[in-house]
This record gives sequence, C-alpha cells and structure tokens, in this order.
Amino acid sequence: MAFKLYEVFGRVDVPIYVKMKEKPKEARHLIRYKAEKDYKYYKCDYCGEEIKIMDNRQEMTGGIDVLPSTLTKTKEIKVALHNKCLKLLLKELEKEKKEQ
Ligand SMILES: [Zn+2]
Repeated sequence: MAFKLYEVFGRVDVPIYVKMKEKPKEARHLIRYKAEKDYKYYKCDYCGEEIKIMDNRQEMTGGIDVLPSTLTKTKEIKVALHNKCLKLLLKELEKEKKEQ
C-alpha cells in the first residue's frame, strides 16, 4: 500500500508547501532578482504529487480529508489527498478491514 499511516499519524496538521517561481533566464544574472511565490500546495499523502491550493475549492484536484477512526482504527487523521487518491485509499483501507 502506498499510503503510510504511521507517517501521518503523529502529524498535527497537514503541511502546506510553497512553490517558488523559476527565475526567468534573462534575470539569472541579476543578483537582486527576487524569487517570487508562485502557488501553495499540499503534498498528496497517497501518491506524493502536488495538490495545488486554489481559491475555488471546486477547481482543486484534491484537498484535506479526515479519515474517520473507524478506518484508521486509532483516531481521526487529517490527510491531503487527490480526489482520485482518496477513492483508492478508501478502497484499500476497506479491504484491509475485511481481511482482518
Ligand atoms: Zn494523489
């Protein structure tokens, strides 16, 4: 399973990362050129890819979800997941539950 529960278990909150804009080639020789923030993103806890944070939640490919304690068998855990990854993860967790 790609998802590692123990990695997110002790986490207080889902970390937010900041993507910096790449320096334009013409500006590389300019010492005073400042790196600019491009966008913020979460890292998907399932596949590790970026989930870009946008003002409009509907346009995002994923977001923060809370896994209920019935699934994690311990406590509620906040995770960052793509919509498609959430489906896959829920399927895996359900499967594990049944196998026990
Ligand atoms: Zn993902």
